[in-house]
Amino acid sequence: MDKTILITGASRGIGAACALLAARRGYTVCVNYRDNDAAANAVVQAIEAAGGHAFAVAADVAEEDDVARLFAAIDARCGRLDALVNNAGILARQSRVEHMDAARINRILATNVTGSFLCAREAVRRMSTKHGGNGGAIVNLSSRAAVLGSANEYVDYAASKAAVDALTIGLSKEVAQEGIRVNGVRPGLIDTDMHASGGEPGRIQRLQSSVPMARGGTAEEVAAAVLWLLSDEASYATGTFIDVSGGR
Ligand code: NAD
Repeated sequence: MDKTILITGASRGIGAACALLAARRGYTVCVNYRDNDAAANAVVQAIEAAGGHAFAVAADVAEEDDVARLFAAIDARCGRLDALVNNAGILARQSRVEHMDAARINRILATNVTGSFLCAREAVRRMSTKHGGNGGAIVNLSSRAAVLGSANEYVDYAASKAAVDALTIGLSKEVAQEGIRVNGVRPGLIDTDMHASGGEPGRIQRLQSSVPMARGGTAEEVAAAVLWLLSDEASYATGTFIDVSGGR
């Protein structure tokens, strides 16, 4: 039976690119999405058209009951889980800290941090050799913002990604002897629809001169790093990060 991978937030952007590449590498892909059925189904159809295997499951990763249902769907369909990509993530509109209320901050933390925790927890319960699993690999989508801080734009988002980094490091040590590797990828400016969620669809064009390589990256360039960290070629890599940021 094929190895199974769960990619959260895989209906578009980096998650969709990871889903397409994972299917090419032979995984059966669980395409998680929050609400856009048509987009998730289009990713599944693209994978199947290329001869791969995929299925879509709607679930909000910030909701514990949804996450339980998501993993139960994978159990029922595949009976195994080999890899998890914690990709689902959100931004709010660009803002200085004076204008950030608790609702906004908590919404970001709930998806980016709590969502990653809940999915990692369910994955460890299934993968850990301590619990009878076969081991596996987890990649968390962090951001260069975790290190750079996103001043005047989204310090709340940057703080959430720093928490994802700490989760990655701590969890990697916790499960290192249970057959599970945990790593992170920190994208820089990647040309996806996410920037429109921050209120600036043209953000890549505005900022690309600040990138040493003088361009935004593609979702596919991020997916390549994610799939390498999941692969056996990365068998001695855990608790580490790949920056995919054109040098930014
Ligand atoms: P995107 O907005 O295009 O896609 C994010 C996906 O996550 C969407 O499909 C969305 O529906 C889904 N999602 C959001 N909340 C969810 C939830 N609660 N439950 C399930 N799914 C949910 O973003 P992207 O650019 O593809 O970013 C993917 C990841 O990479 C995110 O974690 C993001 O923070 C990170 N990242 C992106 C960039 C960039 O420049 N695009 C840079 C650094 C890090």
